[in-house]
Amino acid sequence: MKELDHFIAGKHVKGTSGRFGDVFDPATGEVQAKVAFASRAEVRKAVEAALAVFPEWASVNPQRRARVLFNFKALVEKNMDELAHMLSSEHGKVLADSRGDVQRGLEVIEFACGIPHLQKGEYTEGAGPGIDIYSIRQPLGVCAGITPFNFPAMIPMWMFGVAIACGNCFINKPSEKDPSVPLRLAELMMEAGAPAGVLQVVNGDKEAVDAILEDPDIKAVSFVGSSTIAEYVYSHGTAHGKRVQAMGGAKNHAIIMPDADLDQVTDALIGSAYGSAGERCMALPVAVPVGDKLADALIERLKPRVETLKVGPPTDPDSSYGPMVTAAQKQRVIDYIDMAVKEGAELLVDGRGFKLQGYENGFYLGGTLFDRVTPEMQSYKDEIFGPVLQIVRAHEFDEAAALPSKHQYGNGVAIFTRDGDAAREFASKVNVGMVGINFPIPVPLAYHTFGGWKRSAFGDVNVHGPEGVRFYTKIKTVTARWPKGGVREHPDFNIPTMK
Ligand code: NAD
Repeated sequence: MKELDHFIAGKHVKGTSGRFGDVFDPATGEVQAKVAFASRAEVRKAVEAALAVFPEWASVNPQRRARVLFNFKALVEKNMDELAHMLSSEHGKVLADSRGDVQRGLEVIEFACGIPHLQKGEYTEGAGPGIDIYSIRQPLGVCAGITPFNFPAMIPMWMFGVAIACGNCFINKPSEKDPSVPLRLAELMMEAGAPAGVLQVVNGDKEAVDAILEDPDIKAVSFVGSSTIAEYVYSHGTAHGKRVQAMGGAKNHAIIMPDADLDQVTDALIGSAYGSAGERCMALPVAVPVGDKLADALIERLKPRVETLKVGPPTDPDSSYGPMVTAAQKQRVIDYIDMAVKEGAELLVDGRGFKLQGYENGFYLGGTLFDRVTPEMQSYKDEIFGPVLQIVRAHEFDEAAALPSKHQYGNGVAIFTRDGDAAREFASKVNVGMVGINFPIPVPLAYHTFGGWKRSAFGDVNVHGPEGVRFYTKIKTVTARWPKGGVREHPDFNIPTMK
């Protein structure tokens, strides 16, 4: 059985804790590898390797650091096919979507190549007699990122691209479900010219996460995953003196106005509710049509499309989406479908019994569609994270618009309308972090920042873009005076002021 290890100090290092997790091939249901779970001592080894190289990396000039990232980008592009196959084989998403996962991460690397410009700082000449003030952004030191299974390429790159460009060293603790791509990215970063220890990977579970959160030499932790763990990482990490940004779960709504282009809406919902088997934090699992007539017309279009979704192996270019990541994840979604039925939602398309011929043990789940879901239902309140679309009928715009604002999650939301006023008002007022207007998955580009509100994010600073640079640097302000020769200082017992 293949054994996936750690990448510490520039080398693959076998796990020594004796603890391992199973890595599945979701398409067949077979265990394809074992991944080592790091002990505290193994995490500490990575921290020490990072500490040893940090002074050197921080003092490399910013442009040279950026050149390493340029090289890295070229290497990732060269190895795109290998990375996409590796990603699909552990995650289950279709190949084209895996390429998109890598590509969206690369866009953050492209952004990071320009970070010298954002790290320049500020300068005031002549702030007082002979006095200049300047502010510089310095790296923090050793940073760590704990990443989820659903974007094993993009999310690590969101974090380490920016952290490394700013002069930090970075330790990634990837999801134990699909750790191969993060390991490969660390190899490529070294090939690109980063010194050993600048980017490392420790695999593992809660033990490795706690070791990261409690290590006094790790200065900042980025997390992306479910909200319960995000909240834990935020509170435990900050209690140990760290800067923490922790992105959590989501339940994104699509508000559909009677004037919307229904064909466009249908395409948008099919792609964003069922793409990647619904395992995206920016999926649209809730549709809120305004008015019964619109709801009926929408269902008439959606139902046949959901019934004919092509669920298949990730390597089949005709597959709409592939299997769920694990049997446990599939069962969790089935339990939510059972719950919604019990709660009285109207099941229009039932994906529970779906079996793919030739892949009977794969973790496939058919597309599921519910009508007449209500805000009181638990299956509406919780994140399902599967190929399930819930329709909540609203009678008027205000009722529809209030739903995402009141929901516990506030990651993304979309409105479909031709009415500019309504869209503008909605975007301004809605209590959600990322808004799409006639745009289903509003994941901002790399030079903007990504982050939700409410239980979708803990911490004050978003990921990537200028906020990412702020997160991975600390500001130092220097006040300098070069007195002219012969000028005497007289002791002044009062605070200096600019009179
Ligand atoms: P998860 O919370 O189970 O795992 C995320 C990370 O935390 C993994 O590295 C995992 O090993 C670690 N972890 C798991 N249990 C832990 C514990 N008890 N203590 C400490 N660490 C633990 O999330 P997942 O299933 O990998 O990913 C799916 C979730 O991530 C969904 O909720 C999704 O909405 C969310 N997500 C959010 C965003 C965002 O930007 N807001 C993006 C992608 C995914």
